[in-house]
Amino acid sequence: MHHFEYRGGELYAEDVPVSTLVAAYGTPLYVYSAATLRRHFRAFDSAFAALPHLTCYSVKANSNLSVLKTLAAMGAGMDIVSGGELYRALAAGVDPQKIVYSGVGKRASEIEEALKAGILMFNVESTGELERLSAIASRLGKTAQVSLRINPNVDPKTHPYISTGLKKNKFGLDIDHSLAAYAKAMELPGVTPVGIDCHIGSQLTSISPFLEALDKILAFRDKLTAMGIETRYLDLGGGLGIQYNEEEPPHPSEFGQALTKALGDLPITLILEPGRVIVGNAGILVTEAVYTKKTPSKDFIIVDAAMNDLIRPSLYDSYHAIREVRPAGRPELSVDVVGPICESGDFLARDRALPAVAPGEHLAVFSAGAYGFTMSSNYNSRPRAAEILVDGDEVIVARRRESYDDLIALER
Ligand SMILES: *Cc1c(COP(=O)(O)O)cnc(C)c1O
Repeated sequence: MHHFEYRGGELYAEDVPVSTLVAAYGTPLYVYSAATLRRHFRAFDSAFAALPHLTCYSVKANSNLSVLKTLAAMGAGMDIVSGGELYRALAAGVDPQKIVYSGVGKRASEIEEALKAGILMFNVESTGELERLSAIASRLGKTAQVSLRINPNVDPKTHPYISTGLKKNKFGLDIDHSLAAYAKAMELPGVTPVGIDCHIGSQLTSISPFLEALDKILAFRDKLTAMGIETRYLDLGGGLGIQYNEEEPPHPSEFGQALTKALGDLPITLILEPGRVIVGNAGILVTEAVYTKKTPSKDFIIVDAAMNDLIRPSLYDSYHAIREVRPAGRPELSVDVVGPICESGDFLARDRALPAVAPGEHLAVFSAGAYGFTMSSNYNSRPRAAEILVDGDEVIVARRRESYDDLIALER
């Protein structure tokens, strides 16, 4: 059932030993499992089988083309937040009528690209955006279907940086002031309000904030109906959490059952925008120990992956399980696993129980498939890692490792 497992004393990605991938492609190396992607997508999508629905994978979680193609081939729609993500989704063969476009800062050029592509819907986050969308669509002789993103003021009880549905957040329109925005959407040319959107945060480990938001949205929908505004779509965003360490997030089927019950037979199509729950545990980051170092206060393992490759520990103080690629059965010490970058915030784990691995040995950082490579950078002029997609015993170089030439290719 798990596609990263130990066989004969070493870690495999599906049917391929991770050590084989390291020998061929080097480190740091992202490795994704196609079977896991498919299993997670199927588990999520089928949880809503009883409702008219569209599962729009959130591209920003992991936007590698091979990942997008794998999901598109299963019929996934996509939730995009930029023109670049639109470009990727179309390149992966996603049906434009399954694409929804979210984000607080859509530029005119990006809006125009999405209109020309014929996407299903814009999730509009301000009246300024609504006016701009109206003007551009009118000029192009098109009509954009829109949902307004409502901020339900619900606490998702997750890290503050990934809470998005509180009054103080920059996202969406305040729920108490949104009726006027819908009235405006009815009047403006080139836009038709067809739905309601919300996204309250990421890495939620309980269903109750979703249900709380849904309650508020449904009450809001009744007010719209009373104003004569029919909404056919209800987009509840993404945010379902995964297990990194000891979290116990609800299974998608539980989420599906709760929503199926709450929505009854309302004549709406539910849209969901899962990201992390699809890709998070479908990827690992493999790294090589470069040095070990003892100071009077700490033991360090210095590895060749860093915060530029995986920023989540530095940014959110998040936990990623780390295990040896070839466990050697040595006793565990308390160590910090750190990268080579010139920042004290450059760590993958702190005060972690790990064996005293030797330089040249390899570690796998688990649950690195979401917000891993997509948040990576070239800081310290480090070429970005390669990405490998394993499908059974097939190995696909989903992105080749960047070279030094790549580092300066756009500069003079
Ligand atoms: C980031 C984001 C998602 C995906 O969130 P996950 O926690 O990865 O599921 C969905 N919708 C919107 C609007 C987002 O910004």
